[in-house]
Amino acid sequence: MNSLWYPYCQMKTAKPPIEISKGQGPYLITSTGEKLLDGISSWWCTIHGYNHKKLNKALKKQIDTLSHVMLGGLTHSPAIELSKKLVSITPQSLNHVFYSDSGSVGMEVAMKLAIQYWKNKNHPNKCKFVSLKGAYHGDTSGVMSIGDVDDGMHTIFKNYLPQQFFLQKPTSAYIENKQQLEYELHEMETLFKENNDQISAFVVEPIMQGAGGFNLYSPSYLNEAYKLCKKYNILLIFDEVATGFGRTGKLFATNHTSISPDILVLGKALTGGLLGHAATLTTSKIFNAFYDNDESKCFMHGPTFMGNPLACAASLKSIEVFENENYLEKIQKIETILKKEFQHFKNKHIKDIRILGAMAAIEVNDSKCLASVQEFATKNGVWLRPFDNILYTTPPYIIKPKELKKITTTMKNFFIQL
Ligand SMILES: *Cc1c(COP(=O)(O)O)cnc(C)c1O
Repeated sequence: MNSLWYPYCQMKTAKPPIEISKGQGPYLITSTGEKLLDGISSWWCTIHGYNHKKLNKALKKQIDTLSHVMLGGLTHSPAIELSKKLVSITPQSLNHVFYSDSGSVGMEVAMKLAIQYWKNKNHPNKCKFVSLKGAYHGDTSGVMSIGDVDDGMHTIFKNYLPQQFFLQKPTSAYIENKQQLEYELHEMETLFKENNDQISAFVVEPIMQGAGGFNLYSPSYLNEAYKLCKKYNILLIFDEVATGFGRTGKLFATNHTSISPDILVLGKALTGGLLGHAATLTTSKIFNAFYDNDESKCFMHGPTFMGNPLACAASLKSIEVFENENYLEKIQKIETILKKEFQHFKNKHIKDIRILGAMAAIEVNDSKCLASVQEFATKNGVWLRPFDNILYTTPPYIIKPKELKKITTTMKNFFIQL
């Protein structure tokens, strides 16, 4: 009994998880044969839905050739091709790709790159980070320290974690409130000015803070942060593990801004959700600080499964499908429907509704009112899983309008029957 320990789950009181025996398109099929529309794309990663013919075919072909090989001293075509592809689709100044096996580790790589960059540049004291309240950057130790350690998921570990600097959660909103924005930037500049001798990088989830509550904020915040980072010699890291590959309506959330970060991290939807994998991209300026005759300046990292051929083959095919099948248009249509469905929806339990790209989040006044939403949705054939005071949908991009409306209707009906 309980041989399998589930994530973020009180094993004693939680309802038994639903067993899924098959996935097809946007549907999950349970072991008892019921169909559930996946409203959250398995934590926002299965952007093509399940059991996608072209992705399956690409994986099968790769399995029959080379399933895995180490990237230490050896290399292979899927890893090389994917690095070229990622460099070509991300902002121009990002020219180098370091692989790892999950979003958390991709972010650890970003942090280590920033610290070692400054060490190689003879600034060994620049090894702290500035992060945002409401941030979530993963579950491993380094990135737990840059997640919100007071109100986030990892407060239990606070005493174990290195202390970082935190700025208030940006509340200037996607369509910005100028006065609020100025205040937030002033706070940022004060922190940078006083502590830049210790700060290696400013880390953010651009435009949309994901697991910390789907908080949307303005491109200007990032454009201005970029200038302040330059002014105070601080690197800028964008965690696009959640926002990458279309979720906010552009291929990358960075594309909402007029700037490009020093380091950008991709995960989740990178492989189309088929396998765990991440990519940490960086500029030539950073790469060149490691590129030296001095052996000790080389980057000290290398996960066993980095650049796994299956993950790289899946990623290449996923990007190809994204490009050839007009996914940005599909996402635009999803956004239009989400806005139409929720625009005039009001309910006494609801504090705010936020929509951008293929994402709609409903923030409630009291998280207790969401206690029964999972059961309600499941009974209506929809898979939703709220966290804290947020009920959200991040559907797969291949979802049809009728299916998407089934999800939004289920979300609305839940509040109506409460
Ligand atoms: C999910 C997520 C991570 C962690 O990725 P894992 O693959 O779960 O380790 C990091 N950053 C953001 C913004 C995420 O949404």
